Amino acid sequence: MLIRENIRLAEYTTIRLGGPARWFCSCATTDELREALKFAASKRMRAHLLAGGSNTVFADAGFDGLVMKADMQGVEFTDDGEHVLASVQAGEEWEPFTRTAVEKGFAGVECLSGIPGSVGAVPVQNVGAYGQEVKDTIVSVTALDRTTLDTVTFSNDECRFGYRHSRFKAEDAGRYIVTSVLFRLKKNGRPVIGYPEVRKAVEAAVPLATLADGRESLTAVRNIVLALRRKKSMVIDPSDPNTRSVGSFFMNPVVTDEQLWSMKERWKSIGDGTEMPLFASEGRTKVPAAWLIERSGFAKGYTKDRVGISENHTLALVNRGGTTASLVALAEEIRDGVFRTFGVRLEPEANIIP
Ligand SMILES: Cc1cc2nc3c(=O)[nH]c(=O)nc-3n(C[C@H](O)[C@H](O)[C@H](O)COP(=O)(O)OP(=O)(O)OC[C@H]3O[C@@H](n4cnc5c(N)ncnc54)[C@H](O)[C@@H]3O)c2cc1C
Repeated sequence: MLIRENIRLAEYTTIRLGGPARWFCSCATTDELREALKFAASKRMRAHLLAGGSNTVFADAGFDGLVMKADMQGVEFTDDGEHVLASVQAGEEWEPFTRTAVEKGFAGVECLSGIPGSVGAVPVQNVGAYGQEVKDTIVSVTALDRTTLDTVTFSNDECRFGYRHSRFKAEDAGRYIVTSVLFRLKKNGRPVIGYPEVRKAVEAAVPLATLADGRESLTAVRNIVLALRRKKSMVIDPSDPNTRSVGSFFMNPVVTDEQLWSMKERWKSIGDGTEMPLFASEGRTKVPAAWLIERSGFAKGYTKDRVGISENHTLALVNRGGTTASLVALAEEIRDGVFRTFGVRLEPEANIIP
């Protein structure tokens, strides 16, 4: 395995920010990951796992350690009665996997079409969109334990999935490197049409009652999701400068009844009478961060120091030739503004690597 020096990290991220990695290697097997970890330990330096770089922002100074790129490849489908099991190596790209599943008529990941990044990263934040989350189809996750260099397999329950959450980004952050994920997809399945925007678009295109299960309806939903995402610059496209982002920079805050009451009181006194959009989430209430940001005075397209809010999606912060420092400053300005207005602190979804 080749370990290279001084590699520009910006090129490995979708937001195109960040200085050089002191050391950099591509790992195609679990043994290569072990080798890389031993190399970093021998030099007493940090080792960071990078995959598709679509949720990562490196510092302008770069990373003074080893960046290991997860490049393990391979997808295997096995029959499981009415279902199919897909064992996918962590370095596989997520979007082609969703396309293959839809083309084969396998339901379960169709609404997650168009999301960039790797398969190994999807369990980390329980990737989700348009009414579907990967926790709905993940059977198990196999990972390398960085402390013992052994592999371990976690069942779905053991992953402790929640909204943009799992053990891999919480209590076990940095401990495990996901090496493969096992999904269970429904053969000739029916797409999820739970999200109002998707339902409306499907109904406008094809009468729902006439849609057969399987490939035809899954493709219809996939195409609608891709079209909706493109409108919001949420599909990576080099010709669209608004896609130079990490997707949603902030998570939607999930608040208690008490917090919600206080937010509503504040909005009553300063607002324009519009209703605060609310969604139930695991016994609490989810409030769209985009709505809070806009009502705190930040509009789409707002730009400062060559970074800004996407023209097509309030939650996406975009690099327009700026720096990580200017991006972090903009994120702080937005967080402070929302806190002043609503008393709620937005948490970043993006991984900012110091
Ligand atoms: C245009 C755009 C749209 C997006 N839309 C969505 C969306 O709709 N829904 C959504 O949930 N996300 C979305 N994202 C965010 C992002 O695509 C996902 O979080 C994706 O899963 C990140 O994958 P990655 O391989 O690029 O991860 P990276 O950015 O490389 O890594 C992200 C984090 O995961 C860790 N990680 C990566 N791989 C592994 C592994 N194998 N084992 C352990 N840790 C690992 C890294 O160390 C890092 O902390 C979007 C991003 C962009 C740019």
